[in-house]
Amino acid sequence: MQKILITGAAGFLGSHLCDRFVKEGFHVIGMDNLITGDLKNIEHLFKLEHFEFYHHDVTKFVHVPGELDYILHFASPASPIDYLKIPIQTLKVGSLGTHNLLGLAKEKNARILIASTSEVYGDPLVHPQTEDYYGNVNTIGPRGVYDEAKRFQESITMAYHTYHGIETRIVRIFNTYGPRMRLNDGRVVPAFIGQALRGEDLTIFGDGSQTRSFCYVDDQVEGIYRLLFSDYIYPVNIGNPHEITIKNFAEEIITLTGTDQKIMYKDLPVNDPLQRQPDITKAKRILDWEPKVDRVEGMNKTLEYFEGFSQDELKKSEHREFFKK
Ligand code: UDP
Repeated sequence: MQKILITGAAGFLGSHLCDRFVKEGFHVIGMDNLITGDLKNIEHLFKLEHFEFYHHDVTKFVHVPGELDYILHFASPASPIDYLKIPIQTLKVGSLGTHNLLGLAKEKNARILIASTSEVYGDPLVHPQTEDYYGNVNTIGPRGVYDEAKRFQESITMAYHTYHGIETRIVRIFNTYGPRMRLNDGRVVPAFIGQALRGEDLTIFGDGSQTRSFCYVDDQVEGIYRLLFSDYIYPVNIGNPHEITIKNFAEEIITLTGTDQKIMYKDLPVNDPLQRQPDITKAKRILDWEPKVDRVEGMNKTLEYFEGFSQDELKKSEHREFFKK
């Protein structure tokens, strides 16, 4: 039986990856320090013989006994609200954490896939974003702690590949949504759904003309799965190229939830990218992958998940007021 370590296992993507690898017959070790992760996302796996959980912070030395075949490094805060609350941890998990996991991969002769992000492109001047675009990042802006940690993460991963010859893979993840997103993480999907379900107006930051392209989590997991088992060592964009303005997205949520909420406009956060759309030509060619779930289907599944929350839990959702200049 092959063994895989998944960091950030109690988070949104990490927990879905644990499910997938358990289903594929792997022995899965989930690791998380639970700063932003939630054990609820993986508690259904605890009864399984081939799932283990280590409560550990990967910025400290990582020890896993025995053999290890694969590592997926998905531990990191991944929401602008978190970058402001825990900027140092964000920098450390992308840099020191990645260094530790690369060291573990070398020690165990394991293949490692690291989660990078469309944020390496910053507020992009090239549209849609291809993997060979170098990006436009403000190193000292509020997102800099995440963006630069992820850029460093890619560099150190390539260095371990070229210098130590370890097997590495790099996925650049674009906006992904689905069940288990954190209700209060400030991201637009749980923010808008939470507001609609609480009967509040939806808060659009800026004039809503900024764009994003949302990928359903099952498609994202499939792309990551294929990349891990491919031979390709350079970064690959995984995301859904179907682009939408945030204003149109808010209107879609109002229709979807059947509420009659209004839209409220607030200041645009500093360095909020104006446009984002993955060019997935490479993923199509190399992985024979493209997203299958359209936004209506994916958003319906996501809404169903959030409808399971009580009004009290929904109230915990918060806005990113402190992003205002
Ligand atoms: N956004 C918004 N209202 C909210 C939360 C987010 O208009 O209540 C906007 C945000 O300014 C950004 C987009 O939605 O332009 C996506 O934000 P998110 O935090 O989900 O992801 P990211 O900016 O990292 O793509």
